[in-house]
Amino acid sequence: VKIAVLKETRANERRVAMVPAVADKLAKLGCEIHMQAGAGIASRIPDEAFKKITTAANPQGLVSDADIVVSVQPPAADVVNAMKEGSILLSFVYAHKEPELTKLLRDKKITTLAMELVPRITRAQAMDALSSQAALAGYYGALLGATSIARMMPMTTFATGSIRPGTILVMGVGVAGLSAIATARRIGAKVEGYDVRPEVKEQVESLGAKFIDTGVDARGEGGYARELTQEEKDKIAAVVTKHIQAADIIITTAAIPGRPSPKLISKAQVDGMKNGAVIIDLAADGGGNCEYTQPGQSVQVGQVTINAPLNVPSLLAEHASELYAKNQYNLIELFVKDGAINIDWTDEVLAKSALTHGGEIKNEAAKKAVE
Ligand code: NAD
Repeated sequence: VKIAVLKETRANERRVAMVPAVADKLAKLGCEIHMQAGAGIASRIPDEAFKKITTAANPQGLVSDADIVVSVQPPAADVVNAMKEGSILLSFVYAHKEPELTKLLRDKKITTLAMELVPRITRAQAMDALSSQAALAGYYGALLGATSIARMMPMTTFATGSIRPGTILVMGVGVAGLSAIATARRIGAKVEGYDVRPEVKEQVESLGAKFIDTGVDARGEGGYARELTQEEKDKIAAVVTKHIQAADIIITTAAIPGRPSPKLISKAQVDGMKNGAVIIDLAADGGGNCEYTQPGQSVQVGQVTINAPLNVPSLLAEHASELYAKNQYNLIELFVKDGAINIDWTDEVLAKSALTHGGEIKNEAAKKAVE
């Protein structure tokens, strides 16, 4: 089984879909790894760190005889065009953002296992790249917040007296939010969390943070949130506004699958925030959670900073690549046995991860968005 590893070409993408430890394990499964030269450089992994792989400069040549192609971001159209009919692609795709590419993958009869479609079920946890990457983003967001303000976070006693702990509010407590809370607690902040899924309360409290209960339950399908009604938004604002205004740092991570990020913080709420406070908007890739957010930029509104970095996992590229490559290995292990590919479509993990196969778009939501 020939696996081609692509070098990422999109702006701000430092990750790579292969690390030496995973390449060794794939070799044991009977795979041959062909990597685009320099693919790991931005993740601090030189080509020489890989044993027993071959490298090539040209991505089209690399994929033309590959059975499996792996990458983080979806490949460019000219690379997909060079892929073999019936070969397998493993990468993030986000079909609603990539309608043309999705149609090309369909028409080239590529089997695409889209990393964002891996089901969030217990058995698939080791393959869940959304979670591994979100956990890194949450950690980074908390530290970025802490180093962006002119205050310390932990309660500390000095010869001149004590300083009070800083307050960090985390809005949207999924995987990234929980990781932000855990990190914020480790640096000694007083931490509050808020989400529209009530089951989050227990998780927030188990990390030693306080849950802000708004009385709104917006549980949607599959453990995700749904969009709010105006009435619910008003009910939430009545409770949350004073917490927004008391916070030194706010970290936002809220998302609704396939929709633009919900706006959790209005301009009026920002205008009432403390001088020197900072919002780290980790939802920038989906448009952001604050009305003032400019994705990819740090903006100053009065004395408040709203910083919305893009592709945050990529800023921790070494670990992000390691975790991502392991997630992909665990998927590959489901269908590569004794040096041969055999996809069992009755396996829920593989069936649900499939974006395209055999000339069709397999995922219903993607099909609706694209066709
Ligand atoms: P996500 O990235 O889609 O959203 C982040 C958070 O934003 C979610 O907690 C969501 O409820 C919240 N949110 C959305 N709109 C909001 C609003 N208006 N106000 C406040 N918060 C809002 O979510 P995610 O981190 O990918 O995780 C989603 C779910 O999947 C969670 O229930 C998580 O526990 C579950 N999950 C399960 C597994 C597993 O069992 N294998 C793995 C990962 C995640």
